[in-house]
Amino acid sequence: MAKLGQIKRYLSYMLSYNLNIPLRYPHEVNFQMTNRCPLRCKMCEIWKLNANPKKELSVDVMKRIMDECRDLGINYISFVGGEALVRRKDTLELVGYANSKGLHTTIVSNAYFLDEKVCEKLLDVGLNRLALSLDGAKRETHDFIRGRGNYDKVIEAAKTILKLRKKKQIKVDFTSVVMSYNFRELVDIYWLGKKIGVDQVFYQAVVLDNTFKNFDYNEEVWINGEDLEDLKSIIKKLISLKRQDDFIFNSVEYLRSIPEYFEKRGNFKFGACLAGFMNLNIDPYGNISVCGLGPNLNVRDRRISDLWTHEEFSKTRSLIKRCKRPCLMLCYEKFGIRDMFKHLIS
Ligand code: SF4
Ligand code: SF4
Repeated sequence: MAKLGQIKRYLSYMLSYNLNIPLRYPHEVNFQMTNRCPLRCKMCEIWKLNANPKKELSVDVMKRIMDECRDLGINYISFVGGEALVRRKDTLELVGYANSKGLHTTIVSNAYFLDEKVCEKLLDVGLNRLALSLDGAKRETHDFIRGRGNYDKVIEAAKTILKLRKKKQIKVDFTSVVMSYNFRELVDIYWLGKKIGVDQVFYQAVVLDNTFKNFDYNEEVWINGEDLEDLKSIIKKLISLKRQDDFIFNSVEYLRSIPEYFEKRGNFKFGACLAGFMNLNIDPYGNISVCGLGPNLNVRDRRISDLWTHEEFSKTRSLIKRCKRPCLMLCYEKFGIRDMFKHLIS
């Protein structure tokens, strides 16, 4: 039944995509709580932005948006960054509020602030999913990418929250950005996740520029040349592990596309991009922004229902259809009808 609901949902988003008319509200609202972050990860451009904490969206405005979400039948809310827990008091309050309204919540975190006290609070306020960023099975690999001492924080945070949770009240997973520095450890990350007892692992091919300002390839993190052959055989192993159980979140189709993504670069394409139909991404200052393509509307001035059907959003959706970036971003669904069925049965 769940899959039937999923199929109906995809079909209506696909129809919206083809007509360029949003026939239903987004599946998920994504609050980018802040651009601030204590880490300086190698593949990231966000920490280089000039963050302006004074202009960040207030808790009251975000609560108003969540009220609207509930009224419109949007049930999924995620809190990301930068590092969302730079604003931990606000994020905790918002998760608690969302929970009281029956909304499903996710926090994506680098674990920097996740000591035992904060883990307890996340459970108290009823967080549904914690996605921890883990980019290496080895301490030295992860810390090289994300900064010294961070590996231990991620592993400790995962263990703490798994120890404190009752009856799987919260899902805990590892998300790994696939790049040149760590692709040889992808299978080991799978086994590490199993050993620690997290619920799933997600693999996310590195994004070209996560601020969407440039179209430049960061050759340092891109997988090239002879490494691509090694990547292909590693991905084959992941696919066979995926088929054994559902511990790897990604679809077989997604996994299979990873080497092609690195190899084909600008010629890579992975189905229709539903970003402007399934997701509403709100930046720290209240702007609605899809991968730098607009619509440059602000939630401070408008209700979600108004901006979702706004003319500017239609223009953004047209731009999304013409987007030339090679893209395997997990947070934005990309499927054709054929891919959708493959995804659902894989
Ligand atoms: S990838 Fe995330 S944790 Fe790393 S610097 Fe960027 S925002 Fe911070
Ligand atoms: S394909 Fe979609 S999700 Fe990817 S960069 Fe383009 S608009 Fe964004």
